[in-house]
Amino acid sequence: MSAVADAIVVGGGVSGLTTALLLAERGVRVRVWSKDPASATTSAVAGALWWPYRIEPAALVGGWSLETLRVYEELSADPGRTGVRMVAGVHGGERLAALGPWARRLEGATEVAGGLRVTLPLIDMPTHLRWLEDRLAEAGGVVERRAVTGFAEAAAEAPVVVNCAGLGARELVPDSGVRPVRGQLVVVENPGVDEWFTLADPASSATTYLFPQPGGLVLGGTAEVDDPRTAPDPRTAEEILARCARVRPEVAGARVISHRVGLRPARDAGVRIEAEPLPGGGLLVHNYGHGGAGVTVARGCARAAAQLVG
Ligand SMILES: Cc1cc2nc3c(=O)[nH]c(=O)nc-3n(C[C@H](O)[C@H](O)[C@H](O)COP(=O)(O)OP(=O)(O)OC[C@H]3O[C@@H](n4cnc5c(N)ncnc54)[C@H](O)[C@@H]3O)c2cc1C
Repeated sequence: MSAVADAIVVGGGVSGLTTALLLAERGVRVRVWSKDPASATTSAVAGALWWPYRIEPAALVGGWSLETLRVYEELSADPGRTGVRMVAGVHGGERLAALGPWARRLEGATEVAGGLRVTLPLIDMPTHLRWLEDRLAEAGGVVERRAVTGFAEAAAEAPVVVNCAGLGARELVPDSGVRPVRGQLVVVENPGVDEWFTLADPASSATTYLFPQPGGLVLGGTAEVDDPRTAPDPRTAEEILARCARVRPEVAGARVISHRVGLRPARDAGVRIEAEPLPGGGLLVHNYGHGGAGVTVARGCARAAAQLVG
């Protein structure tokens, strides 16, 4: 029989684990139900650079992002455990004036010939997810491998249910505004790249980025709306390698370590953080729809959702 819980968080990616951690730290007896191990979630695929990319609503995203930035800055003091490092890099073609008011709060951001140079959190997600799970366990939270077909299953075991199901929210809520935005990456042996670089092409689903992570140089990418394919496409991988080699020619000969694909959990109306009553008297708190920046807003969104838990 399962232990008593005050709250069940459905979803064990970065949103679910961060929300559960904040609740557990407040003394809430929390359990996370996740159909996948953290290492098999979209969160584990993310690059992951702190940057509010492909996420709405703009009016709220800046605040959530900055709140999360301050936490990652602290966590970067211990990168081996937390997975968070502060790394310099350039957003190609970017200008401060084109960004929201949040960008004025980025310390040391400088416009250079090629774009915007700034030092940002670069997060090794497998390590960060493990760190979140460990902190959660220390705070008394429990992660269970369990798939649900409806929130009533969780409501039968706890008075509060938190929906951090990412793309799973499409069926569970149900919410037809939730849609996959496919992203493909190639991880290569790092030929000596120690700064990150991005170049977005607004006219195409292709982007170009290089993120130096401890396990290799992560090369991207794509943003293919409504494309649910989870297998890597060999031709897309070749195109990613070619685009990145135009930025850093030494990438061309680098040994490929792995191919990764993830489906960003986008939502037409933007991130949903909202509470609603459940039949039978329970409370359902939503925290889903983080699109291309769930890592960037994780802490801010988790706090907003945890506040709704009461
Ligand atoms: C290629 C790629 C690159 C990215 N790069 C970045 C980046 O650089 N920076 C950034 O901030 N973001 C990035 N993202 C976006 C980021 O990965 C997502 O926004 C984030 O991971 C969403 O987290 P989540 O916890 O909400 O969802 P997920 O990680 O998808 O987790 C959903 C959880 O819900 C569970 N679940 C779903 N349905 C059910 C069910 N029925 N029953 C039980 N459990 C269920 C799943 O098992 C999983 O545990 C990237 C994404 C991709 C694909």
